[in-house]
Amino acid sequence: MRNAQVVIAQPFPEDAEAVAGLLAQCRQSGAQTTVIPHPYHLPEGSAVWPELQRLSPIAAFFSCLHPRALRALLHHRGISVPEDGCVNLADESAVERALAAIGAVAGDSAVASETTVLEGRLAERWYPVIDLERCRNCGHCLQFCLFGVYSQDGAGQVTVTNPDNCKPGCPACSRICPAGAIVFPLYTDDPAICGAPGKFVTLDAEARRMYYSRTGATCPLCSGAEGELPPELAGQKTCPECGRALPQAPQAPGSQPVLDEIDALIAQLDESARRSP
Ligand code: SF4
Ligand code: SF4
Repeated sequence: MRNAQVVIAQPFPEDAEAVAGLLAQCRQSGAQTTVIPHPYHLPEGSAVWPELQRLSPIAAFFSCLHPRALRALLHHRGISVPEDGCVNLADESAVERALAAIGAVAGDSAVASETTVLEGRLAERWYPVIDLERCRNCGHCLQFCLFGVYSQDGAGQVTVTNPDNCKPGCPACSRICPAGAIVFPLYTDDPAICGAPGKFVTLDAEARRMYYSRTGATCPLCSGAEGELPPELAGQKTCPECGRALPQAPQAPGSQPVLDEIDALIAQLDESARRSP
């Protein structure tokens, strides 16, 4: 029987002591433990990725990233970890739960636990990660990004194919994704964008409008302001989704008292002019 496979991703250097303690606990639990460099900064061609694919499925993966961000990052590389197996090192209770689960699986294993350290060159990187469980393949990110970061495969799945084309620090596409599916795991200014639990990205209305005007895409809310408008747009001058001007419904007689008064006055003057010699 194979021991439970556990991965510990090196967080920042000041947390090295915490990693050492975790390593000892994993060893006591009987897990086969692999230590890797920071997964977000590993280059695409790093030899660490195939090593992790070989270990997959991995029972627990400890890192300094939020679980949703880590899971999406690994999914993209064909590495499978159960949902509760992606553990943020900052969440002490999650670490305890994961260690208990590893101990329960590894308890009856006859194979001695081992620790492997995988070295890998790191590059300071910045790129989006798509949460495939949320993505609807609408293509908005693909059309919005000017730098060719995204592409769509033959099956229609939108993926990040040129991650290093992304502009460092720019999380713009995550603010226009209608599904909240784009995560920047290291973006600290907005917990929703870096995948924090229970948070959902607030859409940027201006950026959404920019998307429609740049791409000419048909707005799902007003259908390009053509045809019959949905009831929620009644009385609105512009579409809140795409910013297009909406056609105004003609007003019923009596609903415009000032104009009606002027019409009546003009009719009265016309009548007087006709009667005058
Ligand atoms: S905008 Fe969001 S939902 Fe649409 S394809 Fe991109 S990631 Fe998927
Ligand atoms: S953050 Fe900006 S540059 Fe990066 S993928 Fe999104 S739109 Fe493109």
